[in-house]
Amino acid sequence: MTRRPASWHTATVTSTRPETGTARRIEFDVPTWPGNDAGAHVDVRLTAPDGYQATRSYSLASSGDDHRVVLAVDELPDGEVSPFLVRDLQVGDRLELHGPLGRFFVWTPTDQLPPRPVQLIAGGSGVVPLFAMADAHARAGDDTGFRLLYSVRTPDDVFFRPELTALAIGALRLDYIYTRRAPRDWPAPAGRLTREVLTARAWDAASEPLIYVCGPTAFVETVADWLQAAGHAAERIRTERFGGTR
Ligand SMILES: Cc1cc2nc3c(=O)[nH]c(=O)nc-3n(C[C@H](O)[C@H](O)[C@H](O)COP(=O)(O)OP(=O)(O)OC[C@H]3O[C@@H](n4cnc5c(N)ncnc54)[C@H](O)[C@@H]3O)c2cc1C
Repeated sequence: MTRRPASWHTATVTSTRPETGTARRIEFDVPTWPGNDAGAHVDVRLTAPDGYQATRSYSLASSGDDHRVVLAVDELPDGEVSPFLVRDLQVGDRLELHGPLGRFFVWTPTDQLPPRPVQLIAGGSGVVPLFAMADAHARAGDDTGFRLLYSVRTPDDVFFRPELTALAIGALRLDYIYTRRAPRDWPAPAGRLTREVLTARAWDAASEPLIYVCGPTAFVETVADWLQAAGHAAERIRTERFGGTR
């Protein structure tokens, strides 16, 4: 893990594009950015003309020493901040970022031998920091076994689909769980992740994987409980809760 001091930065939007029907990928240029490990997040602060401020956390889809910072934000219809980021933010706009944050929920290549396999488990937009880890793993040419179990409502809700498909041609083992609608030729009906499916698709406890779980709070807590009940040691389970109950 690389120590990079967190501080406030001015970020300029360089591009935005739809990520899913409800989410947007936003790229920023941050000239003072110190770089970040995969899995880190930032606090985004918006300031209205009357001085009112709102701050929310967003994971970084990007990692490394670059000044380019990438977020992927899902819109909550009744939300205060996410609808602005998804619908209103324009190329050239500036906002304030505080980071990089999160020393525990990061992945960096390790010299540890034998390498410990890594299990990533995402619910919805919780895939953002886990995508950054899988991407960093591929770029490092690291030979640690990497798996991503990604629970998502429908095929249209998948974040980073082209990038994940490319990573899965390489070293990443990628499994989707479709909770509301599966693709036409999918071997299983749509349905929530179950303890049985988790046990069947994730590394088993005997492999002693390092596990990262990220998504809505209820999803993360349920999965972490199942993992411990399956014999995974608590100190090898790292969690990040995005909030909400969905
Ligand atoms: C470390 C961290 C990283 C995060 N990274 C991302 C990310 O990469 N992409 C992303 O889209 N979001 C991410 N989030 C969630 C994000 O911080 C906001 O909570 C989210 O965008 C909603 O903000 P809002 O102002 O639009 O909604 P608010 O006005 O804060 O909330 C509106 C309503 O939605 C509920 N709610 C709040 N958060 C959630 C949630 N996550 N799911 C469901 N309901 C919720 C609230 O209880 C409230 O009822 C992250 C959260 C944390 C803590």
